[in-house]
Amino acid sequence: MILGCIADDFTGATDLANTLTRRGMHTVQTIGIPKGGAPEADAVVVALKSRTIPAAEAVAQSLAACRWLKANGARQIFFKYCSTFDSTDEGNIGPVADALLDELQSGFTIACPAFPENGRTIYMGHLFVGGDLLSDSTMRNHPLTPMRDSNLVRVLGRQTKHRVGLVPYRAVRLGAPAIAEAYAKLEAEGVRHAIVDALEDRDLENIGAASSALPLITGGSGVAIGLPDSYRLARLIRRREGAAALTKAGGPGVVLSGSCSAATLAQVERFAAKHPAMAIDPAALAADPEKTVSDLLRWAAEKLKTGPALIYASAPPEKVSAIQAQFGREKAGEMIEHAIARLAGGLASAGVRRFVIAGGETSGAVVSALGVEALEIGPQIAPGVPACLSYGTPRYALALKSGNFGGPDFFGEALEALK
Ligand code: ADP
Repeated sequence: MILGCIADDFTGATDLANTLTRRGMHTVQTIGIPKGGAPEADAVVVALKSRTIPAAEAVAQSLAACRWLKANGARQIFFKYCSTFDSTDEGNIGPVADALLDELQSGFTIACPAFPENGRTIYMGHLFVGGDLLSDSTMRNHPLTPMRDSNLVRVLGRQTKHRVGLVPYRAVRLGAPAIAEAYAKLEAEGVRHAIVDALEDRDLENIGAASSALPLITGGSGVAIGLPDSYRLARLIRRREGAAALTKAGGPGVVLSGSCSAATLAQVERFAAKHPAMAIDPAALAADPEKTVSDLLRWAAEKLKTGPALIYASAPPEKVSAIQAQFGREKAGEMIEHAIARLAGGLASAGVRRFVIAGGETSGAVVSALGVEALEIGPQIAPGVPACLSYGTPRYALALKSGNFGGPDFFGEALEALK
């Protein structure tokens, strides 16, 4: 293993595994820390569900993953979080990055969530989502991590007691040596975390090359695009093609959506216009979870006889706010995730092997409920979302989609790709 990755949610892990695979690194994603030895691979991505848990727990889980990756030969550690820097003032990006730096006996790392292919760019430390500042994007209404400040130096500054600095675009555009020089200067000034500006893939390639000596890199999947080439140049890995087609899973396909992100809402609407679709009613769920889940399973069993079906909790911001006001933000999230996980388990027992899941937290809950331990990464369905096939028996074909990823027809495209 050359690169050991720790991802703070499941779709983020898949996104990173997809990037590394497409750039020719043999990558396996594990769900949590594997019980046995490390899989044979150039890179292993340990998927945690640590984005929104209490910071101390996120730190403990990330450290355990880091120790396991190092014990299995990882030369470099990558801490992966969302390209919209999903976090709160309590964490978990700052506390986890600080703990990993201490663990690796290092005093400097970068923080670069840029992902130009999906419209996430950073300029002067400000994160943009498409043409909008992060704070003006739909992320300001995220159910768990509302992002209302686009200045990442400030955002990360509230999550760590150490100094946060910036590698501005005027250095990044000059290429890898200038970026490495900027790192050295910031580190000498006592900066421990450097936000790095990036506007396009070429910038990320240069940042990757400049970062090859850092014990720890933190960022979105985008900043990983420069790593495979630098490992090849150092003769650490062989050249290989991108992802191979996966073994077919067959059988009926289901879409389960717990994401309330704008892109998902559009995908739900598009898919529901042409396929059977059923909303999960949070009030009914709170009143009688058993009955709600078994009613939905019965509905799905009937619909799946003739084709794919969608079950969703996804709702627009005003509905989400009302549910959160009634049950509390975390309780509402947990209740819905738990229900979707139980639906996935019930559907799997009924023979469903193809699942498209929308939502990072939601994907984590589903994959755990299916007892999946590791994923083989297949061809890309949409930027940041590959087709995956679980190891073990039975094998599930999975598309795990982070909230804002994918075009309006993503659900249909994903079901087709998983056939
Ligand atoms: P994303 O990838 O879009 O961030 P996640 O699955 O990570 O999606 O997070 C969405 C959260 O919102 C989950 O905890 C989910 O259970 C919760 N949620 C889903 N539907 C609703 C709803 N109608 N009301 C309140 N919370 C909801």
